[in-house]
Amino acid sequence: MSQVPTLTLDNGLRMPQLGFGVWQVPDDEATAVVGTALEAGYRSIDTAAIYGNETGTGKALAASGIPRQELFVTTKLWNSAAETWTRESVLREFDASLARLGLDYIDLYLVHWPRAMRDDYLTIVRTFAEIADSGRAKAVGVSNFQPAELERVMAETPVVPAVNQVELHPNFAQAELRALHARHGIVTEAWSPLGQGRGLLEDPTLARIAAKHGRSPAQVVLRWHIQLGNVAIPKSATPSRIRENFDVFGFALDDEDLAAIAGLDNGTRLGPDPAEFDYS
Ligand code: NAD
Repeated sequence: MSQVPTLTLDNGLRMPQLGFGVWQVPDDEATAVVGTALEAGYRSIDTAAIYGNETGTGKALAASGIPRQELFVTTKLWNSAAETWTRESVLREFDASLARLGLDYIDLYLVHWPRAMRDDYLTIVRTFAEIADSGRAKAVGVSNFQPAELERVMAETPVVPAVNQVELHPNFAQAELRALHARHGIVTEAWSPLGQGRGLLEDPTLARIAAKHGRSPAQVVLRWHIQLGNVAIPKSATPSRIRENFDVFGFALDDEDLAAIAGLDNGTRLGPDPAEFDYS
């Protein structure tokens, strides 16, 4: 039994609150890096078609010998790759991800960005519903969706996204979006949960809390995510940090710690603003 707490998605599927993200891990290194994460105890892996490492990730999953039902695999449709998506192109791209991963189902399939200016995300989400109905994705959700886009999906398709994966860390805590998610039973999943390891982890408030608990600032931030009810998917290619980031279940932050961390929210995004983002 894993020590990682789970959140129950709206379809009853249980999602570990701590997973391992593989953005920027080259495909030929992904097998070793994901293998280290699985050995450390992670059972949830977050990849995406655009990361170019679904193949290496899939090899690590297969080599681990861990029963498929104990794993939770997320990948994402890189919807910027085409001008406008159709049912057929979404199904084709899903099949390609599945083949690269070497799996016959994915636990969670996400729309990577809303690209609201292209106005095709409803078609994509409706096709995702079809994929979920076929059992080839256990759950479907979105990433980087703003309230207006979430409301539109829920009003105009049969889908309530199981998850919205968004930028979220103590400097960008997304309180309003989290409240909206909670009202609709959408799980909040935090990308760049450590603030990409940049200035955040040197913050003196985090250093003080870390010293108090005999932990590292990264562990304090991940513990904050867990206690807030988020899913967090930290990335590291360094074995000692991979293990350190998993070792966050033997301590708890108190109210004073949580209040101090709440004071770090300064509304600073590290990644692109979803209202404008449309790589193609
Ligand atoms: P992150 O916040 O997980 O930071 C990762 C970086 O922090 C590492 O590269 C390393 O430099 C540093 N780090 C990690 N562990 C550390 C430790 N214990 N001590 C000190 N430094 C440490 O940032 P991320 O990689 O951007 O995000 C995590 C995952 O989120 C990605 O791998 C990806 O799976 C996902 N993601 C999704 C989207 C999206 O649009 N849906 C966007 C970005 C990232």
